[in-house]
Amino acid sequence: MSAELASPIQREFNPWLAAEARFDEAAERLGLDEGICKILRTPARELTVHIPVQLDDGRLEIFTGYRVQHSIARGPGKGGIRFAPDVTLDEVRALAAWMTWKCAVVNIPFGGAKGGVVCDPAVLSDGELERITRRYTAELVEFIGPESDVPAPDMNTNAQTMAWIMDTYSMHKRHTETAVVTGKPLDLGGSRGRPEATGRGCMIVTWEALRKLGINPSNTNVVIQGFGNVGGMAARLMSRAGMRIVAIIEYDGAIYNPHGLDVDAVARHRRETGSILDFPEAENMDRDEALLLECHVLLPAAKENVITSQNADKIRAQIICEGANGPTTALADKILEERGIFVIPDILANAGGVTVSYFEWVQDRQGFFWNAQLVNGRLEEIMVNAFRDVVGYAEKHKVNNRIAAYMLAMDRVAFAVKLRGIYA
Ligand code: NAD
Repeated sequence: MSAELASPIQREFNPWLAAEARFDEAAERLGLDEGICKILRTPARELTVHIPVQLDDGRLEIFTGYRVQHSIARGPGKGGIRFAPDVTLDEVRALAAWMTWKCAVVNIPFGGAKGGVVCDPAVLSDGELERITRRYTAELVEFIGPESDVPAPDMNTNAQTMAWIMDTYSMHKRHTETAVVTGKPLDLGGSRGRPEATGRGCMIVTWEALRKLGINPSNTNVVIQGFGNVGGMAARLMSRAGMRIVAIIEYDGAIYNPHGLDVDAVARHRRETGSILDFPEAENMDRDEALLLECHVLLPAAKENVITSQNADKIRAQIICEGANGPTTALADKILEERGIFVIPDILANAGGVTVSYFEWVQDRQGFFWNAQLVNGRLEEIMVNAFRDVVGYAEKHKVNNRIAAYMLAMDRVAFAVKLRGIYA
């Protein structure tokens, strides 16, 4: 759909348009010159492949796959591979740029990349998925690699997919090359701490924000939307750190207890009943109302476009920590800023995952693996530094934290581009 033809609501809910609006504002504030802006806007490399794969019933099908390296100025491309029926090259391009900014905010030596295969995993067998993954990887062998572009899991791909990619790449190279992907199983060169890294990162930056605002973390009410990998882990870690998780919101409703929920008990209840609802020590609540509860911290960790121009004026949180990608629309940004709500933007808040992916790549290349304590300590150091860098930028340039994060990231990439010079 062309952006010009979209309705105002469609425009507000289009995450790529939102990212573009933030890029434009940050570029203007930074006073970036036009040529550098063109470089930062344009993907460095794009590959489209059409791969024949035999299905279980013997038919041959052609699948289309993409890999886009948006920027390789600061290091190898880094970013996930998604399998979904509606993947488009435009979406992959936008997600690759998003990864460039995320890696630059936390100052890890990676650029940004993303990949996707147009397929519907819901109707494909494991064998078919494996054949698609291997043939797609074979087409990418010259394009990806530990020094050029390091994929990871994303929507509908997982540690098993990464193991297939690593194996296929290694077969072509005639030696085992674990550092070609991250998010691998622990026994194949994965890192300790990776599954909980994104939630842990959210906890660390939330803690920093509370300190910054002079709020005592042990007297803090937290509302979490999404009790999955990011939200579930953040809930556990925040609760262990002494914060009170007063509400959890899922797709089928919310639960609320003003005295705090026992997060492990909620997880057990969901395993046993299939839902967080009807948890004995909480009351059920409407999921949209729960988002508007008065609290110190709201952690949207489910999906995009949750805080919009429709509800931003009713949010009663002092801090919003964006565990999900794109939970706040650009129109909502303005409203939250006017209301003085402290937003920890997604490209900072959920960058713990890619940071531990970086650690995985380092460990694979060293052939020497760290214990959980070392991983978590180094993650904390990087997240705290990135938080302080972003907040420092926001104060210095008198902009909100999101624009500050974009400015910081774009400044770092632009600096690398200028320092390297233009090869002619
Ligand atoms: P997940 O699938 O493990 O968890 C998402 C949870 O949200 C599920 O429990 C789901 O039932 C719930 N949910 C879905 N729709 C909802 C709705 N409308 N209201 C309330 N709850 C709803 O996914 P995840 O890996 O935790 O990712 C969540 C978000 O974080 C996504 O935006 C993802 O892109 C982002 N993210 C994840 C990682 C990571 O390392 N997993 C890293 C960076 C960003």
